[in-house]
Formats: sequence, structure tokens, C-alpha cells
Amino acid sequence: MKTFKKKSRVLFVSSEVYPFAKSGGLADVSFGLPKAMSQMYAISIIMPMYSFIDKDRFDIRKMGISFEISLGKKKHLVKFFSTVYEGVECYFVDTPILSNKKSLYGTPENGYKDNDLRFGLFSKAVVAFAKQNPYDLLHLNDWQSALCALLVKEDNSIKTKTVYTIHNLAYQGVFEKKSLSRLGLSSNYFCMESLEFYGDINFMKAGITYADALTTVSPNYAKEILTPEFGCGLEGFLLKHHNKITGILNGIDTSSFSPKTDPFLECNYDSKTYNKKLKNKQAYLKEIGMKNKKRALFIFIGRFAWQKGINLLIEELEKITKMKLNIAILGDGESQYSKRIKAISSKHKNIDFHFAYDEELSHRMYAAADFMLMPSLFEPCGLNQLISMNYGTMPIVSSVGGLKDSVHDLNAFSSKKVCGFGLNFNVKEPKTFLYAIEKALELYEDKKRLKKVNTHNMECDFSWSKGAASYALIYDSLLKKKQ
Ligand code: ADP
Repeated sequence: MKTFKKKSRVLFVSSEVYPFAKSGGLADVSFGLPKAMSQMYAISIIMPMYSFIDKDRFDIRKMGISFEISLGKKKHLVKFFSTVYEGVECYFVDTPILSNKKSLYGTPENGYKDNDLRFGLFSKAVVAFAKQNPYDLLHLNDWQSALCALLVKEDNSIKTKTVYTIHNLAYQGVFEKKSLSRLGLSSNYFCMESLEFYGDINFMKAGITYADALTTVSPNYAKEILTPEFGCGLEGFLLKHHNKITGILNGIDTSSFSPKTDPFLECNYDSKTYNKKLKNKQAYLKEIGMKNKKRALFIFIGRFAWQKGINLLIEELEKITKMKLNIAILGDGESQYSKRIKAISSKHKNIDFHFAYDEELSHRMYAAADFMLMPSLFEPCGLNQLISMNYGTMPIVSSVGGLKDSVHDLNAFSSKKVCGFGLNFNVKEPKTFLYAIEKALELYEDKKRLKKVNTHNMECDFSWSKGAASYALIYDSLLKKKQ
């Protein structure tokens, strides 16, 4: 069995991979999961060679491979780069329309107009690369690489199996019908069973239709996406394919997110030296010039998007500031939200607001905080709560998606290290959000209990080990069929 796995070559395809380029959780998963799978498979990662990736820092070198790839009538020269990062082979696809942009996808409000061509070309380049250097399995992620599943099925000479993971159904890659001809794809795909979606074409449908197996990033989200409330218009289509869907809870790369070794912290700590966490809080409060240092510190870190419950946070923010606490917000995204947060934070001394994407600062905040707020309206998995628990910071989360799977309510606390605990609330009843914050403040006064729960959480396993074993079952069942 072991030798069978070792021989299998897997290419993990993603539009963002930490630490090269990251807009959110997809990047974390796209490094953490393949790194964990590399114990079992000959797995490599492939992603776009965005021009802002620091080639020198990561020792990324040009490979001796290039292709000319057609999109409609136009030919594009595609080059490949590679490096090895933490023992994992990483490949990069370089071609002007994909690479020469300032950000990954565009602004939070509007994607680049040629994203269909950019990620269509990326998918074609990946399949050409995988054909030349045959892989047993392609693991595709989100809409940006979904077309690979269709391209593999279209080419009878390719025997590669495909797994498609939906990280967030809210982003489907929907483009006008004319994209089909722009991409040089047959108009036969313009039908309900394939790419057609209310008169447009939908890249995500290519992954759902043509991949051999589908996964999503938590068991609860796998059920939710089959309902009109969470299915984003694809619930009926997903129901047709539900036999091939599995929900697997994400993990985190516990070497990147470890309070014991994190290089960005003032003071490293673990569950045995939990009291040292306080030094991080003191240093961080000093850094942001916050007074009343004895108060509980709440944080929010995330994209300013409707999904993240940012409206609820903003609506309740004035009331929250009246409580005896400090709150620090780090995020970027839609300016309609940042403007409102800025206006409120400028009036109150106990709010700190940082409008940025700042990886190092986020680590310092996870270590410094007492509580982490996550009022998401939907959350496929969510990583902030896993990172927080690993840093001994209690999550306060809405009971949706992967948050429901990963954060169990404190009322049911048991010291068995099978799951983490925090405070849950019902996002449809905003009052319960404030109530959870009040409960957190009561708990803050009971330092002994807070420490007991937080150190329990720190000793739970949030790594990729369980998730990687579940993905291995799916890989192996497909690879057996292939033999
Ligand atoms: P998303 O829906 O954005 O992918 P996840 O919870 O899955 O949300 O993952 C979010 C990841 O991005 C976490 O690693 C979180 O710490 C990080 N993150 C989000 N916003 C910021 C920010 N402004 N600065 C630094 N890190 C951030």
C-alpha cells in the first residue's frame, strides 16, 4: 500500500499559495495541505507567477520549458518557474496577461475584466504541463482552476484523475457567454448540464461537472451548500452531483502558526507557559498606544466583505465600545465598510483600526488577544478560529459552516482533547452576539477557567493530520480505479 502511494504523482493547483501570494484562507490551505500530503504522495504545487512575487527571496528559477497556448485566435507564450519551499516542489506559470497585474484578482469590488482569459490560460497551461510530465492526479481549487477538470476530460490522451475542492461557493467565476469563444472552448458547453448559468458561463460548474471527486472544506458546509440559503444558486446543480461530495475540515500549518516558534511574537509560549501570552498583549497594546491595559482585548481579523458579518460588527460597534474592553480590527476589502469603521474608531479610544493586509501584525494580534470575533453570515471553514485556539485565544463565532464543526460551545466543555471550545452565537439574532461578548467579559474575570479552556484548546490538534488522511482516502480510491 505504501509503495503504491509513493509512486503516485499529484499536482496541487491553486491561484494563491502562502507565502508566495495570499488573499485569504485558500493560500494557507494551498500550502498546508500539500505539505501534509507530501508524506504520502509525490505532490507538487502549481500557481501563477504573479509579478509581485519575490523571486530572489524564494529562490524561484526559470525552467527550460515553455509552451505556446491558444486562446481563441490568439497565441500566448507561457513559461514556467520553480523552487522548493519547505521540502515541497512548487511550479509557477508565467504569461503576461496572468502575471502582469498589481493584485491577484482585481479590487475587492471588481475583478479584472480579463479574469476569464487569465485563469482560462492558467488552466490550459497547467493541463499542458501535466500532460508533458504525466501526473496521476490533479487537485484543483476554486473557480480559478476549475476548467482544468473539463480540459482533462476533453483530452482522451490524458488519464489523470481530478479532485475539485470548493473553498467558497460565493466566488464562482461567472463571465459572459462570449468567454467560451474567447477561450477557444466548444459552444456545446453552453448548456445547463455543463457551464451555462443563467445566460452566462460559470467556471465553478466545470469543476463540479467534470471532476472525479468533489470536496468542500468542512462537513457542515458540505450539507449547507445543498440548500437555497447557502447554495448561491448552485444548490440544485450540486444536489445532482452530491454523491461525489465529501466535507473535510481544513487544518492549519502548525509550523507557520505556532505560538511556540512564531518569529513575529514578542514572547513565544505554549500551553505549559501560557502566562507568557500576557507579554504579547502588553507589547501589542504599547505598539498601538492603547490605554486601560488590564481590560480584555478583542480582535477582528479578516476581509471586509458581507460574508464576514461585517455589517453586524459595524452596527454593534458603538455598543461594544461602551463595554469595558479594548478592540482591535485588522482588515482590508470593500471601502464602504472601512469608511464606516474608520468613522466609529476615530471617536473611541478603545478601538484600534488598521486598514491593511499585514501577515506579521495578524500573528501578533492572535497572540495578544483574549478573544477573537468571527460573526460570519456563512463560513465554508474559516481559519481564524483554528489559529486563535492554537494561540490560546478564545473564539467567539456564529454557528455556521466550519465554525460549527470546529468551535464547540463552552457550555459543553469537556477536557477530552477531541475538539476546541469557544463561545457560539446565532448570527440571525444580533442580540446573541452582544450577549456572547458580555459572557466573554464575565469569563475574563474568571482567569482560572479561561486559562483552563484556552490551554485545553492549545493542546488540541488543529494540524492537517486528520484532514490529510481524509484526502488520502479520496486520492487512493481514484488512483485504484485508474490502475
Ligand atoms: P477567507 O474567507 O478570507 O479565506 P479564512 O478564515 O479561511 O477566510 O482565512 C483567512 C486567513 O487570512 C487567515 O490566515 C487570516 O489570519 C488571514 N487574514 C485575513 N485578513 C487579514 C489581514 N487583513 N491581514 C493579515 N491576515 C489576514
